[in-house]
Amino acid sequence: MTAEPKKFKFSFQINAQDCMACAACELECKDGAIYVDDNVNYAINQDNCKRCGKCQRACPSGAVLKINIA
Ligand code: SF4
Ligand code: SF4
Repeated sequence: MTAEPKKFKFSFQINAQDCMACAACELECKDGAIYVDDNVNYAINQDNCKRCGKCQRACPSGAVLKINIA
């Protein structure tokens, strides 16, 4: 029996327009949830993200946004 995926009321997303590709968020994420996508933008794999917020606090340009899920 597999566990139900954990449901969150918010997610973190990276706004590519504000991202300067410094990699601070990637270094800070201990869950390996941050990766570089096909468009060479930093992105967050929501399946691996535990919503700790460390990437947001580490980002020097405010590119990591906390988005509420309706
Ligand atoms: S919120 Fe935490 S787990 Fe999710 S991407 Fe950011 S540092 Fe990683
Ligand atoms: S820390 Fe912020 S500016 Fe740096 S790569 Fe991550 S999202 Fe982009």
